[in-house]
Amino acid sequence: FKRIAIESESNDELNKMATTFNHMIDLLEDNYKKQEQFVSDASHELKTPLTVIESYARMLKRWGNKRPEVLEEAVEAIHSESVRMKDLTQQMLLLARDDSQPSQIQKVDLVLMVKEATKNLRNAYPRDFYVHSDLELLEIEGDSLKLKQVLFILLDNAIKYSSDRIDIVLSKNGGIAKIAVTDYGIGIPKEDLDKVYDRFFRVDKARSRDTGGSGLGLSIAKRIMMAHHGELNITSEEGKGTTVTMELSVLQGINSH
Ligand code: ADP
Repeated sequence: FKRIAIESESNDELNKMATTFNHMIDLLEDNYKKQEQFVSDASHELKTPLTVIESYARMLKRWGNKRPEVLEEAVEAIHSESVRMKDLTQQMLLLARDDSQPSQIQKVDLVLMVKEATKNLRNAYPRDFYVHSDLELLEIEGDSLKLKQVLFILLDNAIKYSSDRIDIVLSKNGGIAKIAVTDYGIGIPKEDLDKVYDRFFRVDKARSRDTGGSGLGLSIAKRIMMAHHGELNITSEEGKGTTVTMELSVLQGINSH
């Protein structure tokens, strides 16, 4: 990327144009570097499950007929790594297409959304989900599928990195609706707190791999919240637990009670 050299005695207008041009080049270069980093990170992430699949397939070819225990282990590993790769590519596509923009804006009742999400998860996971809300209705405007996706990412993390109990608190403060998801699990070290939104970032790569994490969840969640002019905030203490809060503007005139 070439920038225009600015000469001190040249005319003012030209200087201004050159500064703007150079600024645009900086932005382009920055974007280009981010893309490059994304491609390199993504390839790396896909390479790991592929290597596992490849080596188990080799084992199968060699021992599969003779040793049933090898057959079982290999099929299991190939299956779970394929599922991981499928999830990962789906999430990557979502990021690449920048699917975070709300496509269907409608009224969404956050109380109902939380109740439904926890009902589904209660059936799937043996965890105590507690929903706390003084409100019967908390309406905002947004894309309900995308907001549900954010909530699922937060609940999924709370399940993956936590103990048995998960609290979900719904509240309204001024014009802001909040959903706070709290777990009492491993927490996030202070120095990593501002990195958790980075694509592919995981506090502990090995452990997150065991729990099936890709490091993309929170970056997707953050984008969706930003596209809704909302916010996503995290507070956490290592060894104690984590609270992630979704914040959105309340729909005026409806939540007056
Ligand atoms: P992942 O798919 O790995 O969970 P995320 O982008 O959702 O990816 O989260 C990034 C990283 O932040 C996780 O790998 C984990 O290390 C950390 N993290 C996220 N949520 C929590 C939580 N509730 N408790 C502890 N660590 C968390």
